[in-house]
Amino acid sequence: MEGVKKRNQEVIPTKDDTNILETDSGNATESDAEEEVTVDNEEPYTRDIVWPNVYKFIILHSLFFYGLTFLPSLSVTSWIWLVGSYWLAGLGITAGAHRLWAHKAYKAKLPLRLFLTFANSVAGENSIYVWSRDHRVHHKCSETVGDPHNANNGFFFAHMGWLMVRKHPAVMRAGQKIDLSDLEADPVVMFQHRHYMKCFLLAAFVLPTVIPNLFWGESLTTAYFLAVVRYVSVLHFTWLVNSAAHFYGQKPYDTNMGPVENMLVSVLALGEGFHNYHHTFPYDYSTSEWGLKINLTTGFINLMSMFGQAYNLKTASPQTVAARAKRTGIPELTRGFKA
Ligand SMILES: [Zn+2]
Ligand SMILES: [Zn+2]
Repeated sequence: MEGVKKRNQEVIPTKDDTNILETDSGNATESDAEEEVTVDNEEPYTRDIVWPNVYKFIILHSLFFYGLTFLPSLSVTSWIWLVGSYWLAGLGITAGAHRLWAHKAYKAKLPLRLFLTFANSVAGENSIYVWSRDHRVHHKCSETVGDPHNANNGFFFAHMGWLMVRKHPAVMRAGQKIDLSDLEADPVVMFQHRHYMKCFLLAAFVLPTVIPNLFWGESLTTAYFLAVVRYVSVLHFTWLVNSAAHFYGQKPYDTNMGPVENMLVSVLALGEGFHNYHHTFPYDYSTSEWGLKINLTTGFINLMSMFGQAYNLKTASPQTVAARAKRTGIPELTRGFKA
């Protein structure tokens, strides 16, 4: 059995021949042929700040705060546009990069993959390929030096600080060993990766500036700043999954890990706040045992499955969840116990 070796700690299984529902290793995907990743939390490392990224974030947030001044006088149509494009971008991360591509928690036909790739480009959190690689590393090396947004470095680092420093060598090594062959075999993912800047600028800024102007006469300036407000909001609300959902909340399924259940994050990040569940059963397409409760993304995937666009939706059975909570968590906090 392969695993993540942490100095003075246990070896976490990453792969097992037994049924995935039996193993629940907490890793991003349960069937990948990956090399062993060794993590040494004592490895010497000096944190190098990447100043161009810091400057970019300062400029971006200045534009964001200026953009907020447009909201009080916004028309109803533009408000609907802002919220709608927020959901679209959010789904590109949650239903797309996260549940479909990083975790393979369900499968999607070409039209849905095209739609989610477009939505993902609106969100602008790097290409699906890079996002999924980083996210698989996050699960594989969770809360060690190998984790890109290691929550042990504090709230700010987990939230956005990690994007302003050079990656820890352990993160780089882990990233190189993660199996990405499934993503490389998806032409839609690789097209977006190869042409990322063009896809991003077009989907995140050019179209959202031009469409409100063409269709309901919104001024180009207002439309542009709405795109900035949407972009920065989606960034922060998805970053909360890495920060708040690793700090503040309960641990019904596994008390030995950092990730928690945080309902506010679920509201803001379209259902991604059930993070103790998600790190325990990462293959579950719903990232929760509570169905549609505060989980817009699950609603969307269910709808797509009704149209035949999403299929092979994976879930953890109530029995599996109950057994795991009894072994490592707090059963009284689980749905099965309350039912
Ligand atoms: Zn995940
Ligand atoms: Zn996490």
